Order: sequence, then C-alpha cells, then structure tokens
Amino acid sequence: MGYSKRRIKKIALERIDILMNLAEEAYRKGELDRMRRYIELSRRIAMKARVSFPKKWKRRICKKCLTVLIYGENCKVRTVSDKNCPHVAIKCLNCGNVIKIPMVREKKLKRKLKRMKKEDK
Ligand SMILES: [Zn+2]
Repeated sequence: MGYSKRRIKKIALERIDILMNLAEEAYRKGELDRMRRYIELSRRIAMKARVSFPKKWKRRICKKCLTVLIYGENCKVRTVSDKNCPHVAIKCLNCGNVIKIPMVREKKLKRKLKRMKKEDK
C-alpha cells in the first residue's frame, strides 16, 4: 500500500464524480435501478475513503429514494425567506422529500470563493 491518504481521497473523489455522471445518464435513459446502484456505490466510496460527498453532487441526490435530482425535471427549487433561517428548499418530486440548504452558508461560500480568486491574482 504505497498510497498516501491524500491520494486515496483524490482517487475516491474522482470515482464518485464518474459514478454520479453515470447515475445521471442512467436516470435520463430511465434505468432507475442502475442509477440507484451508482449512487449507492459512490456513497460507499465516500464513506470508505472518509471524504465528504462532493458539494456539487450532495444537493443533487435525494437520500430518501436515491434519485439524481435534475433541476426543472424531477425536483422543484424554491427559496424560503424564513427570518431565522433563510434557505433554499429542494423538493424531490419522486418521493416528496425536501432538502434544505441554509442560505447563510451559501453567502459565506461565495465570499470565500471571491477571496480565493483575488488571492490567485
Ligand atoms: Zn426522493
């Protein structure tokens, strides 16, 4: 085992990305069993390698029914301007599960990204 932890994590993230792309493709072809297997597999890889699921995909999976969410197709996105906790609500139209994403964090993230861009220059 000559792999460093970092390398293992990098490989895991690459695999997850490939599998999730395949899952999306399977969904579009209507091969739902295949799609679920890909999602399960990528979640297992994330757990084994102890990496957090890529943000890009995290909000695009319904954990309840293991479906790849495609905006404007099988999920509805709306912003909820709750005074205490404004958030984006993503509703899976397959099972009705709602994923909540706090907006505060989004803002912070955007600021962070801006800072990173500046530092690049
Ligand atoms: Zn669902």
